Amino acid sequence: MAYSKEAKQFPVLKALMEEGGCRFLGPLSIELTVVPERELFKVNGFIEVDVHLECSRCLAEIGSRLSHRFTLRFSKEIPQDLHGSDTQEVELTADQIGLIFFKGDEIDFKDTVQEQVVLALPYKPLCHEACKGLCPRCGVDLNKETCTCTSERSGGSPFAVLQKLDLRSRKQGTRKPKK
Ligand SMILES: [Zn+2]
Ligand SMILES: [Zn+2]
Repeated sequence: MAYSKEAKQFPVLKALMEEGGCRFLGPLSIELTVVPERELFKVNGFIEVDVHLECSRCLAEIGSRLSHRFTLRFSKEIPQDLHGSDTQEVELTADQIGLIFFKGDEIDFKDTVQEQVVLALPYKPLCHEACKGLCPRCGVDLNKETCTCTSERSGGSPFAVLQKLDLRSRKQGTRKPKK
């Protein structure tokens, strides 16, 4: 089964785009192969889509192609060998072996596809491994220019810089740097 679908048809992906920082450039091309495996269905999937992400350090736009392959196992009912006296125990065991339960006669692949895309997206995208980011004080792009406050920057953790960046972008640069 191969088809393509616009990202905005997936509620989670639509929300991602509305949040900003992630833009899908075309429809997702999706390939799914369902292989019956005893009482289970093994699903081999492949998702490909062009996406524009925002560098988590300098906010530059990064064009990238997401190609994601995955294998999942679905079960309509709890398999016989997982039946136990304690329901909680059954759920735990099923989770451990990576089973996804579905109700009714059809597997809803919409949830699966959007979940897999989110998993495949980089958590902190970078335009370049060595991206210097924006100056947390004056906001210049340190990849392109240097500023006078560079020397005052402490060699603190990169996370501190990211936190300041986040604040800066939320307040749209109106926040005065603290001494
Ligand atoms: Zn960057
Ligand atoms: Zn600066």
